[in-house]
Amino acid sequence: MSEVRSTAQWQELDAKHHLHPFTDFKDLAEKGSRIIVKAEGVYIYDSEGNQILDGMAGLWCCNLGYDRKEIVDAVQQQLTELPFYNNFFQCSHPPSIELSRLITEIAPEHMNNVFYTNSGSEANDTVIRMIHRFWDLQEQPQRKTIIARKNGYHGSTIAAGSLGGMNGMHKQYATLPGIEHIDQPYWFGEGGDMDPAEFGVQVARQLEAKIDELGADKVAAFIAEPIQGAGGVIVPPETYWPEISRICKEKGILLVCDEVICGFGRTGEWFGSSYYGAEPDLMPFAKGVTNGYQPLGGVLVSDRVADVLKSKGGEFTHGFTYSGHPAACAAAIATIKSLREGKHIERVREETGPYLQKRWAELAEHPLVGETRGVGFLAALELVKNKETRERFDDDCTAGAICRDACTESGLVMRAVGDMMVVAPPLTMTKEQIDELVEKAKKALDITL
Ligand code: PLP
Repeated sequence: MSEVRSTAQWQELDAKHHLHPFTDFKDLAEKGSRIIVKAEGVYIYDSEGNQILDGMAGLWCCNLGYDRKEIVDAVQQQLTELPFYNNFFQCSHPPSIELSRLITEIAPEHMNNVFYTNSGSEANDTVIRMIHRFWDLQEQPQRKTIIARKNGYHGSTIAAGSLGGMNGMHKQYATLPGIEHIDQPYWFGEGGDMDPAEFGVQVARQLEAKIDELGADKVAAFIAEPIQGAGGVIVPPETYWPEISRICKEKGILLVCDEVICGFGRTGEWFGSSYYGAEPDLMPFAKGVTNGYQPLGGVLVSDRVADVLKSKGGEFTHGFTYSGHPAACAAAIATIKSLREGKHIERVREETGPYLQKRWAELAEHPLVGETRGVGFLAALELVKNKETRERFDDDCTAGAICRDACTESGLVMRAVGDMMVVAPPLTMTKEQIDELVEKAKKALDITL
């Protein structure tokens, strides 16, 4: 249990000793942080006693919300029984074995193996090493280049950050060689007058052009999020994924679908790639796998890749002390069972997802909103100065920041990505709570106006 302190005391200590992720430290010290002290259901509570509807499921991860006793109990029991043992050097333990069985049961049929990490970033680092190992074992070691997308997010280690295509991140860190970026399927921002379906095909074909430019025998893989999350919930046109799948198959390159956000129910399917009918060779995952209660990530590996890794022999020189940590695996087992038994994903697919999308679409009528979009329990809107011309506010994205602060004032967590506002609520949100979310978002838009 933490000490009992006043908000001001927490803020002072925080500013003095704590360097936060993705934060302007100077700004934080000046404004002070918001201290979140407890959470229940789909609400969080700050140190001033304010109740806030969590439209972001923590950080796209608490898909079952905040009061899952079954997950807490599973972790507690595991910590009592076997708090730690590793999976190195021919050792294993029941929770990591059981989770592997369970996770491959919910995964697409052709994915029957899993490699564990502690986070999504490490999962994507693992992807790079596994891809290189696969092609080396296939005696095609020249296949090293990975094609990724501009504005994609795959994590913040040097390797995962290099796969990602966010300019701000690339400016601050050295990036790995051998990674190329093509455009994102962002119709509202980049589609111009083109029909979305035509735009989807055209952007997908950039992959084909890039492979041809580099030489197909040099390209190892293409990586993408089924729906770009941190980049602003960029929902691709329906034509995009079928074309990407065709190109990867024809060119023989591996397809990697980063399921860190889309996985574990967010689209109304277990995985975002299944929603689009794509058949990935590798699927990095994290976040929702443990409902955010324990740090765990991993890579689901297709038979195409696993058969080569397993049959050719030789050590895969990669892994982490906590790969498949028993308590994290226990949390994941309990999460998957809960998602299944509570039929939460089915409800998002058939009932609450369509309801959220219907209510969210009402926001498009607001004078500040240029577009609303979404799938399942993922949604975004575009703040614009002029609805007809899609003219944006100034480059410094102040409208997004103002709207985010207005949401906080209205008792809602909604995230600003530049001038896009995004939500990814817990899958357990009821229709009444969805109404509350939309009403609070409307109020915040009015304040921003
Ligand atoms: N991949 C995607 C698609 C993500 O959205 C994220 C985090 O938001 C990551 C990878 C990185 O995950 P982590 O923050 O657990 O390292």
